[in-house]
Amino acid sequence: MSNSRYQVNERGFYGNFGGAYIPEMLYPNIKELRERYLDIINESSFQEEFQQLLRDYVGRPSPLYFAKRLSERYGAKIYLKREDLNHTGAHKVNNTLGQILLAKRLGKEKIIAETGAGQHGVATATVCALMGMECIVYMGEIDIERQRPNVERMKLLGTKVVAATCGSKTLKDATNEAMRHWINHPTDTHYIIGSVVGPHPFPDMVARFQAVISEEMRWQLKEKTGSENPDYIVACVGGGSNAMGAFYHYLDELDVQLIGVEAAGLGLYSGESAATTQLGKAGILHGSKTLLMQTEDGQVVEPYSISAGLDYPGIGPVHAHLYETTRAAFYSVTDAEAMEAGLLLSRTEGIIPAIETAHALGALEKMEFEPNDVVVLNLSGRGDKDLQTYIRYKKT
Ligand SMILES: *Cc1c(COP(=O)(O)O)cnc(C)c1O
Repeated sequence: MSNSRYQVNERGFYGNFGGAYIPEMLYPNIKELRERYLDIINESSFQEEFQQLLRDYVGRPSPLYFAKRLSERYGAKIYLKREDLNHTGAHKVNNTLGQILLAKRLGKEKIIAETGAGQHGVATATVCALMGMECIVYMGEIDIERQRPNVERMKLLGTKVVAATCGSKTLKDATNEAMRHWINHPTDTHYIIGSVVGPHPFPDMVARFQAVISEEMRWQLKEKTGSENPDYIVACVGGGSNAMGAFYHYLDELDVQLIGVEAAGLGLYSGESAATTQLGKAGILHGSKTLLMQTEDGQVVEPYSISAGLDYPGIGPVHAHLYETTRAAFYSVTDAEAMEAGLLLSRTEGIIPAIETAHALGALEKMEFEPNDVVVLNLSGRGDKDLQTYIRYKKT
């Protein structure tokens, strides 16, 4: 544990947020994980295997790319951290790889996961194939429809995809189903959560696996600009794992401004959005205390975003804390603003970003820069999966 006020404390809290609000039947699983995760992650044999696979299998370090034409457009020095070039096309594999190595050392034989956009499902199915472990992925029925190619990928990789048919039939319902499965199979199964959400120690564990992003950023920036610290780090926030990975080694560097970007859907106050810090109140979601979008009587509000990966009614407790303490600033970007920013990056840099990532790019329009400002934008994923959405948007 560290002394940083932005790191998790020994009770699993980030300030007022976090903890492990779980049914009694889940307690043994969470307790085992809590007692063992740090020792396992810190073992040299674990780190050796993890680092070797990050390098040779995922393709790390991911480049830090100076985006010249984008920089000219915004009047600042903009660097893109290319998580889109990772195997499976996004940052998520950093976490699934870490967790499956941990699961093996806990003696687990089966893996379950939930997925929204299907990206976490694919990243989980991928590492399960790699390790020869049985895998079930829960996915909302609606997401199965709108993310067909990822469903096919998971099946090809040998994973069983199970539809969540309750509620809004999206990510939060898939998460509920996965939790239910874990309660019923506590001893042989590990649940790979896909973001910095869920009961302690998941948010901290996922943050540690994604922290490789900012670890690399430090030496890459030093090489390219002479300083480890940029002026801004910008990242989109669904649950908040790519943002946390990009922020992690800068949390206590107060001269670095941290910017999280949430999905405003059809408009912040349209009733169709997913901008949790702006619209949410404190409550308990999926095992942790955090900010979440809810009605007067505490029912979770159905979120909306054009991007399935940001379509989540809460945020990780660490982000609720970063928001409350103003350590990070949060912007919201609408569907249309994100689509325009995604098209702009495609045309100015030849990089088609995931629509989740396009939200982070959309925030550049709203920020004001000095010419010498160094901005790192975490390019969380590639847009192959979103081609149909881009094409449909351009027609309307
Ligand atoms: C899943 C996903 C996100 C959102 O998840 P976080 O945990 O907030 O990072 C963002 N970008 C891409 C490309 C994704 O696949």
